[in-house]
Amino acid sequence: MAEIRLHNLAHSYSRAPTESADYAIREMNHVWEQGGAYALLGPSGCGKSTLLNIISGLLSPSHGEVQFDGKVVNALPPELRNIAQVFQFPVVYDTMTVFDNLAFPLRNQGMNEAKILTKVNEIAEVLELHPLLHKRARNLTADEKQKVSMGRGLVRDDVSAILFDEPLTVIDPHLKWKLRRKLKQIHEQFNITMVYVTHDQLEASTFADKIAVMYGGQIVQFGTPRELFERPSHTFVGYFIGSPGMNLIDVLPYAGGVRFNNTVLPLSAALNRRLAELPGAKLKIGIRPEFVHVWDGPNEDALCGEVVHVEDLGTYKILTLKLDGQSLKVRLQEDQPVPQQQVYLSFPAQWLMLYADDFLVEAQAQEVQP
Ligand code: ADP
Ligand code: MG
Repeated sequence: MAEIRLHNLAHSYSRAPTESADYAIREMNHVWEQGGAYALLGPSGCGKSTLLNIISGLLSPSHGEVQFDGKVVNALPPELRNIAQVFQFPVVYDTMTVFDNLAFPLRNQGMNEAKILTKVNEIAEVLELHPLLHKRARNLTADEKQKVSMGRGLVRDDVSAILFDEPLTVIDPHLKWKLRRKLKQIHEQFNITMVYVTHDQLEASTFADKIAVMYGGQIVQFGTPRELFERPSHTFVGYFIGSPGMNLIDVLPYAGGVRFNNTVLPLSAALNRRLAELPGAKLKIGIRPEFVHVWDGPNEDALCGEVVHVEDLGTYKILTLKLDGQSLKVRLQEDQPVPQQQVYLSFPAQWLMLYADDFLVEAQAQEVQP
């Protein structure tokens, strides 16, 4: 079991990379702590598989180091890294039985057969593979094969970490939920570092204690599901997490705050000071549909928008409105009155985020100079 540290890591598939767009992984520093249950969440093509393959040793990074418990492992081949990896599509030996497939990683280690029997039974129990143990793998359904594939990743309890690369893609939806619970259970039982790759935010937040959100070859935020929801560090996190995602509006600096069209939004003194240090940055404000405050009627603090559309989703409604030419989404609770034509709203300062070149502007500067 190990802490996995990525130190100044970068990777380009191109032989002569010149600009940052040539990098599948842009230079990053990141730590997966020993024993954590992590998700790596991001859209297709953002570099998730590349990163996992670098950690497991299938791929050698262009720059930087991979460290396990502080030891650089760049030169170690995958079999010496003691990492189990489960891929998107099943990797099983078709001619072997399910039992032999599960026993394979253990036999490789030279474990005695009595112990192998115990371990295989243990994992077959967890994954409900008992009825299939003596079937040949080629006779299994895609779901069943993937369960065997996962079993092979989980059967060794001496691994440093288990990496899952979108392992439930080929699994039937009703089984997905069950398997995710199982993985969580296995994590709690064995205290193994697990990194679970997915592009599905629900899957990420049900599995992981902490989620790394990846976008364009960078980890743009690493936090709990709640932190990602309440304080997205990057506009992509705001947009990608939540349903619908965060409202994002392009703004310009304006006397004591920012503005779009004729609408002025005042900001705190601290944010204004930070803003003054960012000349020329592309600014956006962001607020989640859940956090927009809707008033019952006109009010001196309220902005006035026009209702465009109301979508009833049972326990809540999503209101689409136009505010000074900008489209906004607002989430209304079941018991909240639904505005008819005009809607009066405000943006509570606590939930109004300011982004400069897509990164969150913190009211306090991050580094304090002596
Ligand atoms: P993800 O797993 O998040 O979908 P990948 O790590 O597979 O993303 O890919 C990241 C980027 O690297 C993509 O732009 C992809 O096209 C590119 N890429 C992946 N594998 C290769 C490869 N073997 N050769 C060249 N480019 C690759
Ligand atoms: Mg992938």
